[in-house]
Amino acid sequence: MNADPLSSFRPARRLDGIGVSEILAIGARAAQLRREGRPVIVLGAGEPDFDTPENVKDAAVAAIRAGATKYTALDGTAELKAAIIAKLERENGLRYEPAEITVGAGAKQVIHNALMATLDEGDEVIIAAPYWTSYADMVRIAGGVPVAVAGREENGFRLDAGDLERAITPRTRWLMLNSPSNPTGAAYSAADYRPLLDVLLRHPQVWLMSDEIYEHLCYGNFVAVSPMRLEPALRERALLVNGVSKSFAMTGWRIGYGAGPAPLIRAMAVVQSQSTSNPSSVSQAAAVEALNGPQEVLAERRASFARRRDLVVAALNAIPGLHCRPPEGAFYTFASCAGVIGRSTPAGTVLRTDADFCRYLLEEHDVAVVPGSIFGLAPYFRISYATAEAELRTAMARISAAVEALR
Ligand code: PMP
Repeated sequence: MNADPLSSFRPARRLDGIGVSEILAIGARAAQLRREGRPVIVLGAGEPDFDTPENVKDAAVAAIRAGATKYTALDGTAELKAAIIAKLERENGLRYEPAEITVGAGAKQVIHNALMATLDEGDEVIIAAPYWTSYADMVRIAGGVPVAVAGREENGFRLDAGDLERAITPRTRWLMLNSPSNPTGAAYSAADYRPLLDVLLRHPQVWLMSDEIYEHLCYGNFVAVSPMRLEPALRERALLVNGVSKSFAMTGWRIGYGAGPAPLIRAMAVVQSQSTSNPSSVSQAAAVEALNGPQEVLAERRASFARRRDLVVAALNAIPGLHCRPPEGAFYTFASCAGVIGRSTPAGTVLRTDADFCRYLLEEHDVAVVPGSIFGLAPYFRISYATAEAELRTAMARISAAVEALR
């Protein structure tokens, strides 16, 4: 008798090579070290350390009391779609109809729906690298082929129009762009977008997925702009992706939204209807308040993130062997560690890759950061500065000491 009832388990081929996010794995190792009593500082998380604003929480409680506890319209309540439409017009200068809006359980589900609804086996999706790691695996799960095109550091890690044009083939279905970017914090100005939009106009089969989830987190004089605003012709083949997770510190509520042509939105609704149905009724009511309610909290938090950004950038650039460009937005810096590759730790381990450097920082110096290689560009590492300033200062001092100890 075969004693192991799981011996017949076999994951589907579509999961080949796809694992749980490596960022989560680093977080798990950091948590384990903490349980062992080590004072690990985690600069790996992709979420604001702030709490959801009180008015938003109150709206959720009121919604529960008022009985908003049942299924809602499949891809968003009328109230939430209206709030999204008003937001897109007010802040982005874009007009959409309710049939052109979809709401999912986080921006992540919106992206997943779009890829599942449009990709056939072998269709290609161009992803501007370094990229949020999930993009490539979400394309693969949908049967597509991710085609990463790396931006150069000299160009602020932005996608080069010539590189984009060369990567387009008859099978290209989407270009995925994320501004401000996870992991680099780089953002595209109108002038940065122009040459890319011109390439897209020459290739009508390529759609644009514009992930604008970090739009409210821009620093200095930088103002985020939506590419569809710059090129109205693209609006007919573009999906704008956004959500309340990052702007309003609502990662756990799981509300994201998309805006695009009605046929695409309808196809995405089919995917959602046969997977999760509507996003949480309570969370949708909270998101209405986030979008329609007072917006002052955004500016306050932006100012706080800007101070942290300045602190981290200055500290990193003072460490010989490391450097980073000041990011325009989001809450990440993407720093080069090329200057420490090839050096040895006090224990005699040679640092050959950015992953080696990050392991050294975590295991020997109690700071968790994420290697650039998992975002598609090495040797770099990503720091998330969504952490209190005092902790950031301690972490930067530790990184400095760690580099100084190398031979
Ligand atoms: N896009 C980018 C670029 C992100 O970094 C994230 C979150 N890490 C998401 C989308 C997903 O956001 P949500 O929590 O709304 O699913």
